[in-house]
Formats: sequence, C-alpha cells, structure tokens
Amino acid sequence: MMQRLSCTVLGSGTSAGVPAIGCRCDVCTSTDPKDRRLRTAAAVQWIDDGGQDRVLLIDAGPDLRQQVLAAGIDRCDGILITHNHVDHMFGLDEVRRFNVTMQAPVHVWAEPTVQANLRRVYAHIFEPQDNINPSFVATIELHDLAPAEPFELHGLTITPIRLLHGALPILGFRFDAPGGAQPLPLAWCTDVSAIPEASMALLAGVDTLFLDMLRERPHRTHLNLEAATALAGTLGARQTWFVHMGHEVAHAATEAILPEGCSLAFDGLKLTNQKVAAAGENR
Ligand SMILES: [Zn+2]
Ligand SMILES: [Zn+2]
Ligand SMILES: [Zn+2]
Repeated sequence: MMQRLSCTVLGSGTSAGVPAIGCRCDVCTSTDPKDRRLRTAAAVQWIDDGGQDRVLLIDAGPDLRQQVLAAGIDRCDGILITHNHVDHMFGLDEVRRFNVTMQAPVHVWAEPTVQANLRRVYAHIFEPQDNINPSFVATIELHDLAPAEPFELHGLTITPIRLLHGALPILGFRFDAPGGAQPLPLAWCTDVSAIPEASMALLAGVDTLFLDMLRERPHRTHLNLEAATALAGTLGARQTWFVHMGHEVAHAATEAILPEGCSLAFDGLKLTNQKVAAAGENR
C-alpha cells in the first residue's frame, strides 16, 4: 500500500523562466514569490513496501540543480522525459551527482525519438570513449516509453499518455497506486495544446491534474487560459493546477478569476498523501 506519497512542483514556468532575462514588466519585477517561476518540472516521492524512500523526477530542465537542492532531494530512482525541448532536458548533466549519492546509474525513461535527441545532445555521456580526457560524466540507463503502455516502478503505476504540443507528439503521465488516496490518481500534462480522444479516456477519474496554461492570449503549441479551463472542466479532476506559465500571468490577479477547482501552481507547491489510517489506528 502506497504510503506518504507527495508531488512537488519543482518549477511552474515557461521555457524562458520568470523573471525573463532583461524584462521589466510587472510580473518580472513582482515581489510576490509566486511570480518567480523556474522551468516546469516535478518530483513524485513515496515510500515503497520495503520502507525505502523513492524519488521520481518528471523532466530534467536547465534549473534541475537548484530545484533538487531547494526540495532537499538527494536521490533519484528515475526520470520521466515528456519531450526533448531544451526547457525539459537541458539539466540532465546534473544527475551525475545522483550517481555519487546512490552509487548507481540513473534510470531515464523516454520515447525512442527523445532518446535519439538525448544521445545527440549528451554525446559525452553516451559515448564517453570519445572524450579526450576521462572525466566526471553521468551514468545513465535509458528505458523505452510508449503511449498507453503502463509500467510499474517500486509500487507506483505510471501510464504514459499521448499529448499534442502543436504538431509534436509528446507524453504526459498518469500515476496510480493501490490504496493511493488523493492526490492520486494524479496526471502531469505539460506542454500540451490538444489531447487526442484516446488519451482523454486514460485521464478519466484523475483526482489531481497538472495542466499546461501558458497565458491568456492563444498560442500555437500551448493551452491558453480559456482552453485550459475548458479542458479542466471536461476532464473533471477534483483539482487542476496550471503549470508552464509565462510572464504575462500575474499569480494573484489570475488566481482570483479562475473557476472553482482550478488554481495556478507555483514553485515549491507540495501535495501530500498521508495514507488514511485504519479506524482506531493512531494518526
Ligand atoms: Zn516547455
Ligand atoms: Zn516580463
Ligand atoms: Zn515544449
């Protein structure tokens, strides 16, 4: 039975981050800490049946180092990659520290097309024999992902879900566990502009949904405010949290106009499932 599961939003920002370099707009100069957004990523943490702490990261963006330091994460049992855009994979080099702390390879799950991009960008990791000097490079084991093909990791069931990011097919993820109370079932759907019909069925019954919401104005490859709130209503999760926001989204002002059941996520948001104790058990 899944115990003490949590999901931490490590970053809730769009590809440039907020504040954006060189921008003096109201959001980029805001003093509200919720208007500061690192690149979108998350950590799912739980204790498995053997009592071992487990940490699964969703994406490995350029802010990975400061994100895991801020969250106090010192191990990594796996990384799920949604797609190979820079803001979701350019922190992969940092996982070499997890090789040190765990004395083990880091397991990375990605679609074959994404793996090809990882091998290209990180040639020094995947073809270390070509490095001129032997040096401290990450040790990574790649594993295949395919949409609608669930797999289990230390008691957590992970279902990759096909999403469309403009014309680019990418993956979202659904997480389930036996006996898992809210925020399970939980789904993470970043960088999405449309969800194919077959994927809508895989998102049925989700308690907590993280969903892309770039800004108010429409965008070709991301949901805007109107589309994201409409989709949240269709999917009907108990709670939907928007992620991947740009600097046009002021946290407090936008939060005030969202419909019930929708909120803006923010960096450091942590949803925790203290497993419901059986009757008579101490809490
Ligand atoms: Zn992105
Ligand atoms: Zn700005
Ligand atoms: Zn993207």
